[in-house]
Amino acid sequence: MRSSFPRTIASDHTEPMTRIYDDDLAGGMATRAIHAGQRPDPVSGAIMTPLYLTSTYVQESIGVNKGYEYARGKNPTRQALERNVAILEGGRHGFAFGSGMGCLDSIMKLFRAGDHIVCGENVYGGTFRLFDKILRHFGLSFTYVDTDDPQRVADAMTPATRALLVETPTNPLMRLTDLAAMSDIAKRHQALLIVDNTFATPIFQRPLELGADIVWHSTTKYINGHSDMIGGLAVVLEDELADRLQLILNAAGAVPGPFDAWLALRGTKTLPLRMKQHDLNGRAIGAWLLQRLGEDRVIYPGLAHHPHHALASRQMSGFGGMMTLDLKTIDNARKFLERVRVFSLAESLGGVESLTNHPYTMTHGSVPADIKDAMGLNDGMVRLSCGIEDAEDLIADLDGALEGI
Ligand SMILES: *Cc1c(COP(=O)(O)O)cnc(C)c1O
Repeated sequence: MRSSFPRTIASDHTEPMTRIYDDDLAGGMATRAIHAGQRPDPVSGAIMTPLYLTSTYVQESIGVNKGYEYARGKNPTRQALERNVAILEGGRHGFAFGSGMGCLDSIMKLFRAGDHIVCGENVYGGTFRLFDKILRHFGLSFTYVDTDDPQRVADAMTPATRALLVETPTNPLMRLTDLAAMSDIAKRHQALLIVDNTFATPIFQRPLELGADIVWHSTTKYINGHSDMIGGLAVVLEDELADRLQLILNAAGAVPGPFDAWLALRGTKTLPLRMKQHDLNGRAIGAWLLQRLGEDRVIYPGLAHHPHHALASRQMSGFGGMMTLDLKTIDNARKFLERVRVFSLAESLGGVESLTNHPYTMTHGSVPADIKDAMGLNDGMVRLSCGIEDAEDLIADLDGALEGI
C-alpha cells in the first residue's frame, strides 16, 4: 500500500479527474478521506482540487474534447467530491446533487408510474413530504412500515414493489433498522435497497457492504460538516445502475454548483476526525443525561437501555452525536430551547457546532399529527446534534437549560 504514495500528477491529461485510480483505494479511512478521488491539478500541480468555475469546455474539433462538454453533466470539482465520497462508502460511482432532497428526487426517477415503494415510517420529514405531496401524483405508490420488524417489511412487499427505502438511525427517534435483513428482503423481491446514511456517515456505517444498492446523503450535514452549504450525494456499486443515475443527473440537472462541491470536499478531509469527536461528545453527554433525566427520557443508541443498542453495536462502529430528549411537555421543551446558550435552536444537524431543535414543529412539521403519534414523536421532545466543542461546556449548557425540568 505504502508504495502508492506520494500521488503523482496524472500523465494522461484526458479526464484526469474522472477515473478511480488504484491508489485512491490505498490506506485507511482517514487517508482516503483526505486523498481519495483527488489528484494534483495537471496544469499547476496545485495540491487542492481547483474550483472549476465554468459552464462549458472548449473543444478541439467535432467530438474531440477532454471528456468535458457542458458542466451540467460533469465538473471536475464536483467529480472529485463524487469519487471521494464513493470511495469512503465502499462504492464505485458517486452522484452529487444540489440538496439531499434533490438527490432523493433524482433517485426516485429510476421508477415509473405503477411502481410501489416500501418506506420506513420513521424517515426524515422531507422524505415523507416529497413522496406524499409530490411523487404520489406521478403514479408511484408508497407503503410506510415499521422497519424494526423484518417480517412486517416482508409482508408489505408486493409484486409491484421496486424499492425498499430505509433510514438508520432515524430522525429524531433514533430507531435502528437491520440493514442486512432489509437487503435479504429486497433481494428476494428484486427491489432496490436504498439507504439514507446521513446520520451515521460512512465512518460509522457502510450500507453497501451490507447489501444496499444505493446509499445517499444530505451532504449538508456531517459530510460537509460546517453548516455552510446545501447538498446531496448518492453512491452505487453497480455500473448499470450508475449509468441510469448519470442519465438522470444530466437530464434532470439537479446538480450542485462547484463551490458547494468544493466546500463539501474540504469537509470530507476531516470527516473521520470530526466523527470521532461527535461520538466522544455524544457518549459523554448521553451518560450525563442518563444520570440527570433517567432512562425513559434519553434516546441515544449508545446507551445500554436503548432498545437497539445491540444492533447499533453490531451494525455501526460509532454512535455519533445525535440524540433526543423526551421532556414530556411542550412547556418543558420551550423552556429548554429558550435557555440553551452553547447549543443553538436551529434546523439541521451534523455541523461542528451544537444544535438543538423541536422535531414536532420543525423537521416533522409537515408530517400529519396522527402519523407523529403512531411513530411515538411527541411535542415534548427536543433533538440534540452534539457538535465538537468541549464536552464539559456542552454539559454545563444542558445543565443550565434543564434547571427545574
Ligand atoms: C437534512 C436531511 C435530508 C434532506 O437533505 P437536504 O440537504 O436538507 O435537502 C434527508 N435525510 C436526512 C436524514 C436529513 O437529515
